Amino acid sequence: MSNPMTRVADHRERIAGLVGAMPVVPLPTADCLGLALAEDLVAPVALPPFDNSAMDGYAVRAADVATTPVVLPVVDDIPAGSTSSTLFRPGTAQRIMTGAPLPAGADAVVQVEWTDGGTSAVRVDRGVAAGANVRRAAEDVAVGATVLPSGTLLGPAQLGLAAALGLGALPVRRRPRVLVLSTGSELVGPGEPLGPGRIYESNGVMLAAAVREAGGEAELLRFVPDDVAAFHAAVGARLAGFDLLLTSGGVSAGAYEVVKDAFTGRGVEFTRVAMQPGGPQGAGRYLGVPVATLPGNPVSAHVSFEVFIRPALRAAMGLPDVERRTARARLSAPLTSPAGRTQFRRGRYDPASGRVVTPVGGPGSHLLSALAVSDCLIEVPEDVTELAAGAEVTVRFLQ
Ligand code: AMP
Ligand code: MG
Repeated sequence: MSNPMTRVADHRERIAGLVGAMPVVPLPTADCLGLALAEDLVAPVALPPFDNSAMDGYAVRAADVATTPVVLPVVDDIPAGSTSSTLFRPGTAQRIMTGAPLPAGADAVVQVEWTDGGTSAVRVDRGVAAGANVRRAAEDVAVGATVLPSGTLLGPAQLGLAAALGLGALPVRRRPRVLVLSTGSELVGPGEPLGPGRIYESNGVMLAAAVREAGGEAELLRFVPDDVAAFHAAVGARLAGFDLLLTSGGVSAGAYEVVKDAFTGRGVEFTRVAMQPGGPQGAGRYLGVPVATLPGNPVSAHVSFEVFIRPALRAAMGLPDVERRTARARLSAPLTSPAGRTQFRRGRYDPASGRVVTPVGGPGSHLLSALAVSDCLIEVPEDVTELAAGAEVTVRFLQ
């Protein structure tokens, strides 16, 4: 039997195609954590830039300390950041600090621990070989070397390297800017009284956090009532400059589906995707801005974000790891799943007890507390309707 619903993979592709690749821009190095290099990183300077001391001690000629103990006159002091003002002469020493440039003519550093620490003359108790305690210019990085290839994920160490090379900005695909808007006349904000039939709004905070966790920038428009005019007013005033409008609620089969009503015939198409939760979805473009409309139930919205939005945002930034990590695991309890739909159940994975995953809460898409204590989604394929305890499943980690 053919499936009248949109396939999960097709909707994923649709969203990824809508968002597209972000432009490559120079971004301040300090803001690049979690982004990917969009070009090879080529060293404009050498590391180290000059021969320097690896130790606090005395710059010497190794030949002058071949026989110890030996006393040498200390003719200059070289702290880090300065150079010797005295020509280095054989038979002398210059006191030198870690990172200070080795004076020309010296070929080794005796660490202070092997001396009496003298300031006008120093007694050296143990000799060193030529080159000892000297960090050679360019021994880490040569000028013009490619230190990181395009596509490298920028973590602390990579940013440190870029900073060491004097790079104040890096070429990256910038973070997508996402406008997050919740809909529903039942929604109230924190601090407001819960009147009859009202609930506290939660998708906005959750989805904005999910955008940021994925590496994007989120702006929260909070929420609008189920009123097409109010929806258009809120969206129209703010949409310009965003790379994605992400709505939740108002897209299922009932009446008062504000997102559907506002966007139908205006460039956004609505469909049912063969998954549970998260069936009702919409995608398109409004006023030139890509739009993804997620269902309102909090677990549906979260799972939809994981399946459709997160990979699209990460692909847009050119990140090497677009997908969450997955693993195979054995179910600790049986599961049932609707035919013809991929089910994403919340679970807790325990690697210690032999890769076992325990379903948390039921399939209900309002069960937010179960989601909040889960660490993975359990994927039950479309054609599977029952799984026994012990059955192998794929789990998709949420962190
Ligand atoms: P809808 O998709 O608008 O029909 O909403 C489905 C369910 O999700 C309803 O129970 C709504 O009250 C709830 N819901 C929708 N949006 C939100 C939101 N932003 N925060 C919390 N619950 C929501
Ligand atoms: Mg609603």
